[in-house]
Amino acid sequence: MPTSRTAIIAGNWKMNYGPQKASEFTMEIMPSLGQLMRSYPRILCLLCPPAISLSSVREVVDAMPAPRIELGAQNMYYEEKGAFTGEIAPAMVKELCTSVILGHSERRTYFGETDELVNKKARAAFAHRLRPIICIGENLEQFESGSTQEVIRTQIQGSLAGFTPEQAARAVIAYEPIWAIGTGKAATAEQAGLVVHFIREQYSEMYGTEAGDAVRILYGGSVTSENIAEFIAHPDIDGALVGGASLKPDFVEIVRKTI
Ligand code: PGA
Repeated sequence: MPTSRTAIIAGNWKMNYGPQKASEFTMEIMPSLGQLMRSYPRILCLLCPPAISLSSVREVVDAMPAPRIELGAQNMYYEEKGAFTGEIAPAMVKELCTSVILGHSERRTYFGETDELVNKKARAAFAHRLRPIICIGENLEQFESGSTQEVIRTQIQGSLAGFTPEQAARAVIAYEPIWAIGTGKAATAEQAGLVVHFIREQYSEMYGTEAGDAVRILYGGSVTSENIAEFIAHPDIDGALVGGASLKPDFVEIVRKTI
């Protein structure tokens, strides 16, 4: 990654760790993570536990203060409040978090989220000054048939439509090839770098080169402390969205190898 953008390592805990376990795990990693974050100013670290565990993680992070360790939700709804059983409103997320993951492929696959819905959620995030981390990526069949760029272009145009250039610059994009998520088969840094570069080009076309240069684009899919250095070495990749490895102390190693 170039020096003009601050790296982001985000841990997506998915449906793991209830309030008690989340609190214990956060306590376990905070001393070493906090020390790293105090020493290196050019990285942002996001912890994204399940919604029910956000408060308990918030308590630990507040009790062991360290710079640039922030919380993110894994999803939210776009309406302000009301009769939406099971959903969480942007203002509720904002009480505990700076960021929100939107349109993760698991949300798209299992819960039918469309680009249009992701776009509404992203606009709601901006309205509440939350940083949206918008996930895009092709599946195996699309990858193998060579339609990655087409899929990515459609997702970008649908999920990211209608932002102001300032909002566009503040958004974070996570490129996650679905075939690499949870499979242990990460993309190569070269493969990911090509797509991330393409995303940046598309972004510049939509929002101008300033926004295209400013937007942070993360890679996600089987990132570990063993391969993070390769991804971060690519000039277009600004960090990672980490699933499985964010549930272990290896997460701190990933942060260490990013800086
Ligand atoms: P993984 O998940 O690191 O376990 O592959 C990444 C993600 O889904 O964000």
